[in-house]
Amino acid sequence: MKSKALAVLLLTLFFSAASWTQEKTQDRRKFLDPKTQVSDDPRRVVVKAGPRGPEGALVLRGGRIFDGTGAPAREGTLVIERNRIAKLLPANASDWPKDAKIIDVSGKTILPGLIDLHTHLTYPLTEEDFGVAMNDSDATLRGVEKLRYFIESGVTSVRDVGSKGDVPFRLKAWVAENRIPGPRVFPAGAFITSEGGHSTENAPDELIGLMGATRLASGPDDWRQAVREQFHKGADVIKLGSHFSAEEIKAAVAEAHELGLKVTVDSETFYIQRAVEAGADTIEHPLPRSEETIQLMAKKGVAADPTLIPYQIIFEEWGGYFGSTSRRFTFSKEANLEMLKRLRKGGIKCGIGTDLILHWYRYMPGPYIRELKNFVDAGWSVPEALVAATRTNAEILDMDDRLGTLQPGKLADVLVVDGRPDENLDDLAKVDLVIRDGFPVVVGGRVAIPRHTAEKSWKSASAPTEMK
Ligand SMILES: [Zn+2]
Repeated sequence: MKSKALAVLLLTLFFSAASWTQEKTQDRRKFLDPKTQVSDDPRRVVVKAGPRGPEGALVLRGGRIFDGTGAPAREGTLVIERNRIAKLLPANASDWPKDAKIIDVSGKTILPGLIDLHTHLTYPLTEEDFGVAMNDSDATLRGVEKLRYFIESGVTSVRDVGSKGDVPFRLKAWVAENRIPGPRVFPAGAFITSEGGHSTENAPDELIGLMGATRLASGPDDWRQAVREQFHKGADVIKLGSHFSAEEIKAAVAEAHELGLKVTVDSETFYIQRAVEAGADTIEHPLPRSEETIQLMAKKGVAADPTLIPYQIIFEEWGGYFGSTSRRFTFSKEANLEMLKRLRKGGIKCGIGTDLILHWYRYMPGPYIRELKNFVDAGWSVPEALVAATRTNAEILDMDDRLGTLQPGKLADVLVVDGRPDENLDDLAKVDLVIRDGFPVVVGGRVAIPRHTAEKSWKSASAPTEMK
């Protein structure tokens, strides 16, 4: 009797400890009053309170609104104040601030800015040129160029899941300060993997270190340390890649969660099972996995970023994916589409990511639209695919309280396209206006940079942010 009571007590303690552990992860926000102003990223660092974004109000009227919530598109007017969506009005209303700037978007559709969950902003354009790959200045300029392709394609947020050194963090800051045109950048920093792991197959270790986009780790303590290094640099998410031992991935995921960051994992076959068991939040790519793993993903609410498009480009341009030790399985367009169908059938939350390595960003917006069409081929309706690109992607980014839908109070990341993309995805290519954080960054389909504003006098001139 006594031992039974003890067993019950121990079990109770065990389960409450388990739920406590689960609850503990990512619960930092419980300590933040919603009135406390924090950074607009998953880090939620407390910042000085005050208005943000450009002064004044912006009204988009005469168009249709696809708000990203899953509701059908409807006629309406969108009112933006500073960097926030203030309200959505019926088409015949004119209840907006008197001094608002009014933009007529008749015949066009207003939707939330698109999100890309898988970019590498600093990756070089060719695989062979190690000199360029190792050069920080060139890496920065490549990133600036890529940001332009993305924003002009209607993408207002990118998750960077592996880039060189400090570059993605500097790009994030410069975009946030509206000093260069581009989407918001949510960087992972370096991609963490083991010696011989994915992304390290074709280069010697010394070169991988110099290229700076991959952090080799060995053993649970070092995997934990590698996560801390990315957090220290400013990571918004942690990106891990197989191969790893169960202990290594457990340590890395636990550390990331305690720091308040989500974890996404590039893995295959049983490594996916291992990552899901360890508590990973998202699995990248359409790589093989068992039915048991899909069921566990569903049970634990693990999302997928299936990225069929980069492999389609690989199969079409190279004739196959050859020579990779992290892709040692039968790999084809058909198998990847089948995997996406299985994920949908299994009830897995799926988002849109393009993983455009090399020069492929120059194909934009084509690859992004094609990834949406892959979703349609796998069973999504066109509006559902657009919801995946906006609301679902914001959820996977851990930013759904601020991004992904057009609702009052959310950040003003808005896309206006000519046509009806919720009926015909190809209309997404007809980008007219892109607003990021309240700033019209793309006007008439191209980046619009206003003339600089000269400071009035030497004395009143304010120092650039990094000099303050
Ligand atoms: Zn990638």
